[in-house]
Amino acid sequence: MLDLCMKSSPEITAVVLCAGKGQRAGLGYNKILHNVGGTTVAVRSIRKFLRFDRVIVVCSRDDEMNISAQMELEHANNVTFVRGGETRTESVRSALKSIGKTDIVIIHDGARPFVSDKTIDDSIESAIEFGSGVAVVKSVNAIKIKENGFVHSTNRDNVFVVQTPQTFRFEEIMHAYEVMEGSFADDSEVYERAGHRVHLVDGTSDNIKLTTPSDFMGLNSLYRLGYGFDVHAFKEGRRLVLCGVEIDHPLGLDGHSDADAPVHAIMDALLSATSLPDIGVLFPDTDPEFEGADSIELLRKVLKLTSNFEIINLSVCIITQKPKIAPHVEKMRNRLAEVLNISSECVNISATTSEFLGITGEGKGLASSADILIRKR
Ligand code: MG
Repeated sequence: MLDLCMKSSPEITAVVLCAGKGQRAGLGYNKILHNVGGTTVAVRSIRKFLRFDRVIVVCSRDDEMNISAQMELEHANNVTFVRGGETRTESVRSALKSIGKTDIVIIHDGARPFVSDKTIDDSIESAIEFGSGVAVVKSVNAIKIKENGFVHSTNRDNVFVVQTPQTFRFEEIMHAYEVMEGSFADDSEVYERAGHRVHLVDGTSDNIKLTTPSDFMGLNSLYRLGYGFDVHAFKEGRRLVLCGVEIDHPLGLDGHSDADAPVHAIMDALLSATSLPDIGVLFPDTDPEFEGADSIELLRKVLKLTSNFEIINLSVCIITQKPKIAPHVEKMRNRLAEVLNISSECVNISATTSEFLGITGEGKGLASSADILIRKR
């Protein structure tokens, strides 16, 4: 047996299985060619393994044309292609035979594009140490076993749902595929039935295998970007409130509410990202309810309306000649982070003048923009 502990860096080959027909997805074409955020599922999965010595993609001739064109664009020159067989077992066997020689082989379903680097690395470490590393998760559902027509319960702590990557010392998995005949559910079954011990590593619940139509629903709308902009005129005798922070200044901003322009821009960015009506529609300045309103309270209402999304980051720009914004930025960031319930590192506030030009440059008013990135919960 190859003593990998003695080798400083074993050669690692990944096999990405893209040969299924994916009929259960009901897309009318191979599900691994489905586009998720501008890139196919297959390419997203393959990218996770380009850092290794070699990547072997198992797929049909037609799908190879599509995938190889994208790989060329990305200058991925360690990718080769192998035709799939009638069954998963046959496909993996073909891929393993084509390798010839390597130290470690990672076998991964092309329909699992959300696998984490950590899961992959853990499976490799386990394969180096024990011969195998198979990603599994605990079942979130109760487990029942049916025998002779009757059901009995079992302790789900001892039951695992098997994912990929499934990583092995090459010589051992090659041997297993050579001695075992027939069709098996996965590589760990072939390995186990050939007399080897399967070691488990922690997978993650989001390393899902895209299978049914519902798995594909909403994948392209996981992330959304929003933009908002607002201007208010300066007026004597008004408070100046920016990002929920009161600033000592001879002039405040005029408006129906407290005229907190950056918070208005943030609300419009959030509403825009979630395709909801803007604040002019939600909080009309003809409605006495919103007279003198604290904009932070209005923002809380918008957060409730958009609560099925979480905020990834927020970028605010304040444009004014006076007062200087920099001394207040930390306080503003902390205030917004607290209201939005995110880390202040995810809130950024920049400030600029407009070089004495226009409404803001002549000191007539203050403008603010906000960009926000959100993700479906
Ligand atoms: Mg406004």
